[in-house]
Amino acid sequence: MTNMDFKTLINDFDWEGVRSEIYGKTAGDVELALNTDKRSIDDFMAMISPAAAPYLESMALLSRRYTQQRFGNTIQFYIPLYLTNSCVNHCVYCGFNHNNPIKRIILSEEQIMREVEAIKKIGNFRHILLVTAENPRDAGVDYLEKAIHLVKPCFPSISIEVQPLSEADYRRLTRIGLNAVYCYQETYHKDRYKIYHPKGMKSKFDWRIDSFDRMGRAGVHKIGLGALIGLEDWRTEGVCMALHLRYLQKNYWQTKYSLSFPRMRPHEGKNFQPNVTMSNKELAQMIFAFRIFDHDIEITLSTREDKVFRDQMTSLGITSLSAGSKTDPGGYAVYRNELQQWEINDNRTPDEVTEAVKKQGYEVVWKDWDLSLQSD
Ligand code: SF4
Repeated sequence: MTNMDFKTLINDFDWEGVRSEIYGKTAGDVELALNTDKRSIDDFMAMISPAAAPYLESMALLSRRYTQQRFGNTIQFYIPLYLTNSCVNHCVYCGFNHNNPIKRIILSEEQIMREVEAIKKIGNFRHILLVTAENPRDAGVDYLEKAIHLVKPCFPSISIEVQPLSEADYRRLTRIGLNAVYCYQETYHKDRYKIYHPKGMKSKFDWRIDSFDRMGRAGVHKIGLGALIGLEDWRTEGVCMALHLRYLQKNYWQTKYSLSFPRMRPHEGKNFQPNVTMSNKELAQMIFAFRIFDHDIEITLSTREDKVFRDQMTSLGITSLSAGSKTDPGGYAVYRNELQQWEINDNRTPDEVTEAVKKQGYEVVWKDWDLSLQSD
């Protein structure tokens, strides 16, 4: 393990300096990056720079080639299950934030099972993502443990996207069958982080960024990271993610990694206007750049993105899609039409998404992991 942890490394990150470096990249830098075998962070900067925009087609072809070499013609499917919208945090961009006077729900055991039954009816899902807002007192690790036990008989692959936990708690959940943990840093810009996360546990940048090391030490099988696109310059966020990925791979080399690039959607803070936007072409550029930079990572596209874009990306670098998602607790069966965390942009059924994937000559993989494969 390196001596310095990532929270210390990111403390010294020169955001403005790196941003200038990215925007200063030239066509020559991009060509060098595309024509080498092993890409450095410097190459990654060139590939996400504005200078790479005219090279998008070459990048798409490379990205497709590397993805097919590593993953074949397959796309994994998963479905999120929102367990609660109860939240102690005040993220300015989110409809679940503590100040928003909405009905708060924490699904009971019986309600979780009703949701599971409803999910089973809409698709052959074997991978479930359990999602919570952040309420450690009422939906903490004991609650998550119960939820994992409940869904385990139906889903061999279980992931969570919840508040950052302690190392002991990650270890505890991994032991009972948790496969992957997804956590979004939202922004790596430490100085501006507090503006978006003014109160609650989430205001603690170091606690959140350090959670990935805790996951690694606890032996979590797969770690998912990402930044919320809409807060700060997305290209610089991308470089921070690339640095974070390399750091984690070096220190926790047995772990698998997953990336996603959620763009802000309506409802995620009706009053908050994104500071930056990212076009479809730019999101495609980010996906291609990451695939060329690292051939082995999982790249996920959720139903935040529309069906046309998701279909286009299916053969160009992504490896994982959600389908039929609801982003409100109880949304599949128990409570219909409560507040969604964000608006779904691809409303197709899992069968329709499957058809679209197959049309491109790809096979849907409903499960990529089984508890029996996990060694203690
Ligand atoms: S982003 Fe997450 S932690 Fe922040 S207010 Fe929304 S649900 Fe709560």
